[in-house]
Amino acid sequence: MAYLTKDDQQRIDTMIENLRMKTGLSFPEGNLVELAKALGVEVFESKFIKHDNINGFLEYPKKSTESPKIFLNKERPAARKKFTLAHELGHYILHRDKKRKFRVDTVDYSIDDEETREETEANYFAASLLVPEEKLRSILALSKGNLDVAAEYFGVSKPVIENRIKWIKANQ
Ligand SMILES: [Zn+2]
Repeated sequence: MAYLTKDDQQRIDTMIENLRMKTGLSFPEGNLVELAKALGVEVFESKFIKHDNINGFLEYPKKSTESPKIFLNKERPAARKKFTLAHELGHYILHRDKKRKFRVDTVDYSIDDEETREETEANYFAASLLVPEEKLRSILALSKGNLDVAAEYFGVSKPVIENRIKWIKANQ
């Protein structure tokens, strides 16, 4: 898990904390689509018939009057859609000054195979948003470290929990 220093992680954690204060939404209780709405981002689910390898993509507005849009692959399981939405929101918040029209995500990001720094940042953002450290600690204490219980509680896949734990340890 290269690329992100403790400072990078803290910068992203601070942004998430600001979002939480600004919107009153925290997770797992909060609704991610509502968070997107609060940020002015529209969310759609569609079938990517010719491109089923795509988990989702972010479309930046072409004009200032348009909203950014996130499209999710309808065929994916709920936990995958949730993580992809959080990941795309991460790109929107962290990388929106980049001059590009689209950002398409195809590979399985919860596995954390790190092709670029921006992907790592978006993954870190998604995992920190969806799995807050304090709540994860409580759930792991209550469940005696059962990762399946934690995955179920936060509505994410088990690799997301495993990566979150690795990041928290790396950040200590
Ligand atoms: Zn991405």
